[in-house]
Amino acid sequence: MNIVIVGSGIAGVTFAEKYRALSPNADIVLVTNEHDGYYSRPLLSRGFTKADIEQSIILKTFAKLRENGIDVIAGSVVAAIDRIAKTIAIDGPGQEKSLAYDKLILAQGSAAFIPPPFRPYEKLFYSLNSLIDLKAMRKFRQPFLNQNKHPHWAIVGGGLIGCEVASDLAVAGDKVTIYHAMDRLMERQLVAEDSTSLLKVLQTSGVEVLLNQSVQSFAEEGGKVCVLTDVTSEFDAVIVACGFLPRTELAQLADLNSGRGIKVNAYMQTNDEAIFALGDGAELPDGKLYAYILPIRSQALWLANYLAGQEQAAWSPAPFSTKAKVHGFEAGHAYNL
Ligand SMILES: Cc1cc2nc3c(=O)[nH]c(=O)nc-3n(C[C@H](O)[C@H](O)[C@H](O)COP(=O)(O)OP(=O)(O)OC[C@H]3O[C@@H](n4cnc5c(N)ncnc54)[C@H](O)[C@@H]3O)c2cc1C
Repeated sequence: MNIVIVGSGIAGVTFAEKYRALSPNADIVLVTNEHDGYYSRPLLSRGFTKADIEQSIILKTFAKLRENGIDVIAGSVVAAIDRIAKTIAIDGPGQEKSLAYDKLILAQGSAAFIPPPFRPYEKLFYSLNSLIDLKAMRKFRQPFLNQNKHPHWAIVGGGLIGCEVASDLAVAGDKVTIYHAMDRLMERQLVAEDSTSLLKVLQTSGVEVLLNQSVQSFAEEGGKVCVLTDVTSEFDAVIVACGFLPRTELAQLADLNSGRGIKVNAYMQTNDEAIFALGDGAELPDGKLYAYILPIRSQALWLANYLAGQEQAAWSPAPFSTKAKVHGFEAGHAYNL
C-alpha cells in the first residue's frame, strides 16, 4: 500500500506515525513545503517571550521521522493531483517529480485569512501562521532590541490569535495597539463578561485596545507603516490577524468538492474514494471545520486506525476545549468552539 500525505502539521504527522505503527509494510511518503521539521503551531503565539523558540518549537525533526520509516520530502510543494493516474505532481528545487498513491491524505492546513481590501498592501504587514512568519517578525524586531528599544506594533484583529500575539509582544516589552472591528474582544469564543476581563488583562499589560474600528487600508511613510481608519496612525510594524483560510486550491484543481474546506464524509473521505482530508482544511458533513489541536489529533489517529482496518465506526468529535494563551487571563466560562 502506497500512502502519500500532503502536509507536515499535526494532522499529517500524527496520521503518518500512527499508520506506520499499525502497518509496518506500507510505503509512507509525506510531502511538505516546510524545511524546519514538525513544529507546534500553537507555540507561534509565544514566539516573543521565549528566547529559544526557533529551536524549542520543533517537536520532531524530519530526520527523526525518516528514521521511523516515513519518507519525508521537504521543501516541496504538491502542485497537482491526477485522480485518474493516481499520482501527484511535486514542485521544488531539484525535486520535480510525480509520485503514485493508493491513498492520498490531504493535511494541508490553513493560511492566514487576509480580507480582500487589505490584499494590495500585503507587503506592508505580517501575519503569524508559520514558523517562517515568526522568524521574519523576530528578525524585524532584533535591531530594535540591539539598540535597547522596542518596536510599536499595530495588530488588526482582536480574535484569538490577535489577542495572544498582542499579549506576548507586550510581555516581551513591545508597545502594542489592537484594532478590533467589534465592540468586544474574542466575541466568537467568549461570553461578554470574559471579553471584559480579557480587555482588562491586556490593558494592564500595556496593550492599547481600540474597539469598533474599521481599518480601511495601510500606507508606508518614512520607514513607518500607517494604519488608516478615519484617522491615520503610524507604527513600526503591523500584523493582520483576521482569521484563517483552509487550503482548498489543490483539491479544487482536482475537482474535489469543497466549501469552506475540502468536503469530506464522516470517514474523512472526499468525493474520490482514494483521497481523504484531515485537519484545518477538512469540512465535515455538519459544515464544521475542527481547527483545533485536540479534534485534529483525534481525526488523524482515527483515520490511521480506519485505513489499517482497525476501526469501522465513523469519526465523531469528542467534546474538547481550548484556552487563549494570553498571559494572566483565565476565562470564567467555557469557550464557544
Ligand atoms: C498562532 C496560532 C496559535 C494557535 N493556538 C492554538 C491553541 O492554543 N490551541 C489549539 O487547539 N489550536 C491552536 N491553533 C490552531 C492549530 O494550530 C491548528 O488547528 C493546527 O495546527 C492545524 O494543523 P494541520 O495539520 O491541519 O495544518 P498545519 O499545521 O497548517 O499544517 C499543514 C502543513 O501543510 C503544508 N502544505 C500545505 N499545502 C501544501 C502543499 N500543496 N504542498 C506541500 N505542503 C503543503 C503547510 O505548509 C503546513 O506546513 C493555533 C494556530 C495558530 C496559527
